[in-house]
Amino acid sequence: MAQSYDTLLKRAKEALPAPVSSGERFQVPEADLIVEGKTTVLRNFLDITTAINRDPDQVLQYLLRELGTAGALEDRRVVFKGKVTAPQVADRVKSYIDTYVICSECGRPDTRLVKEDRVAILECDACGARRPVKVVKKAAKVEEAVLAEGKVYEVMIQDIGKKGDGIAKKDKYIIYVPGTTKGSIVKVFIEKIAGTVAFGHIHRE
Ligand SMILES: [Zn+2]
Repeated sequence: MAQSYDTLLKRAKEALPAPVSSGERFQVPEADLIVEGKTTVLRNFLDITTAINRDPDQVLQYLLRELGTAGALEDRRVVFKGKVTAPQVADRVKSYIDTYVICSECGRPDTRLVKEDRVAILECDACGARRPVKVVKKAAKVEEAVLAEGKVYEVMIQDIGKKGDGIAKKDKYIIYVPGTTKGSIVKVFIEKIAGTVAFGHIHRE
């Protein structure tokens, strides 16, 4: 019985010994970042996505979400709003690779990402494993108090109260700061917090 070319090819592949290691082929370039004004440019973004063989748009969405910033693809580069550091990018690229590239069965990067019924499936060419992508939820960040007594914050005086004190707002707090003028940006030392009202004074270094 004649066998199709595909079947023959599959047989041939199966007959081959498994690759010893593909680790040496998996070289992800280090993030090449430069600050340009108020933006940070990841100059070798496409080199990274090519190395990990993933869709640049998908990787970008992931990075932006995990970095908590905005950004756009421009040619081979990504321009992030604000300051982003190389370790921050490296950390997110690594977690992307761990989640969306590395096979959990054999630990190799020779995988493909396919969508089935809106579920992302990681298919491994090295060992044949198929599994839904497991997105590991990071432990919820410890909520930091927005305002604390004895600390200094930079605030803008948005209003002046009846008694002449400047009023600043920070998150849910209203901060009274005597001796300030509307529209000024001051460093305020928080003396006391009562509920959502705080009292402070101008901090001078
Ligand atoms: Zn595998």
